[in-house]
Amino acid sequence: MRAEILAVGTELLMGQIANTNAQYLSQRLAEIGVGVYHHTVVGDNFDRAKQALQTAIDRGANVVILTGGLGPTEDDLTREVVASFVGRSLNLSNEIVEYIRSFYTYRGLEMPENNTKQAMVIDGAEVLHNPRGTAPGMYLEQHGVHFFLLPGPPTEMRPMYEEQVQTILKRLQGTNELVFASRFLRLFGIGESTMELKIRDIIQQQTNPTVAPYASEGEVKIRLTASASTEAEAQALIAPLERSIRERVGEFIYGIDEESLEVKVGQLLQELGQTFSTAESCTGGLIGKMITDLPGSSDYYLGSVVSYHNSVKQSVLGVEAEVLQTHGAVSAECAVQMAEGVRKLTGTDWAVSVTGIAGPGGGSEEKPVGLVYLAVAGPNGSTVQQHQWKHGDRNQIRLRAAKTALYSLIQ
Ligand code: ATP
Ligand code: MG
Repeated sequence: MRAEILAVGTELLMGQIANTNAQYLSQRLAEIGVGVYHHTVVGDNFDRAKQALQTAIDRGANVVILTGGLGPTEDDLTREVVASFVGRSLNLSNEIVEYIRSFYTYRGLEMPENNTKQAMVIDGAEVLHNPRGTAPGMYLEQHGVHFFLLPGPPTEMRPMYEEQVQTILKRLQGTNELVFASRFLRLFGIGESTMELKIRDIIQQQTNPTVAPYASEGEVKIRLTASASTEAEAQALIAPLERSIRERVGEFIYGIDEESLEVKVGQLLQELGQTFSTAESCTGGLIGKMITDLPGSSDYYLGSVVSYHNSVKQSVLGVEAEVLQTHGAVSAECAVQMAEGVRKLTGTDWAVSVTGIAGPGGGSEEKPVGLVYLAVAGPNGSTVQQHQWKHGDRNQIRLRAAKTALYSLIQ
């Protein structure tokens, strides 16, 4: 299958929003082995949108996923464009009118009349339900080309893709194409180029499965994708390859697929029935944010002290004045006292602290930007690590520090 993603919306062309829908869809489609050949963005303009569809078909797309322009207002014209392109009529669906009306009734509101526009269905199209919004999506096929119309807001579009579009695509693959299976290996503590050197021959030898390394936000991922006539056969092709990669870089692999560092920390502490807390200086609460992004994290995460100023390191965490004077806030000694301080304060089994210089200012020859100390306090005492990151802006240094802190908990 050859897919093209067509995002409709003048706000995208104006630079008011980024085309995260295309990014999201590309990632999901890659996972199931659907090749994406082009991303297109077009404004809310009937003729140019229709021309964009023609261009997609002319260059060989047989899956076209449109996002945006399904709303009730004048400028929302994706439905009309696709109907005109395939030469079919738009028919009012009373069922959808009632569904949209119930959305308003639930909120105690009257449905504005222009909303019935959202209940117009292209002749012969399958309706894709949108439980999170009023605009339903659509799926239709014409001359071997599969069109998907999805709403613009990512909170509506993403679940519709996962719950409905992916199923249809897999069904289409099943009838005339191979089934794909993918597995991500997640690594920490190794750079992308070092990792690539270690498995270069494996990457080069493989054709099925394919091996693709990625680096993002201080982490490295290796994607293994195999195709076969059944899902089980594709999985069976991945397994031996995964074993040979693990022989080379297994010590850096901490998780698979959706198992992020924060997920792994949670799994481990839940297995042990233990808890942890954080004392954050240069990360300003980022570790706490990452952990509490996971529902249910209160089972093992009790809280954080964001001790950005020295006075709070002293008064709340009990860091000694002498440590701050002699070694400074960015020091191994201070990191240990921060971790031990918050562990005592919260009564947790474990505590992690981070103190460092995220930049851009505040560095010196002795303590340059990117210098970070990180301590772990536990039942058997404390350990401390020093890191010196040479590259990266403030956000990157903070994110790396936070991830390294989480990684230090699962080691
Ligand atoms: P609505 O019913 O909300 O009008 P719609 O299907 O008509 O939905 P648009 O009007 O095109 O969609 O976009 C609505 C909002 O969805 C945009 O303001 C933007 O926040 C978000 N959005 C649209 N397209 C994209 C995109 N490609 N990537 C990320 N966000 C998008
Ligand atoms: Mg709209």
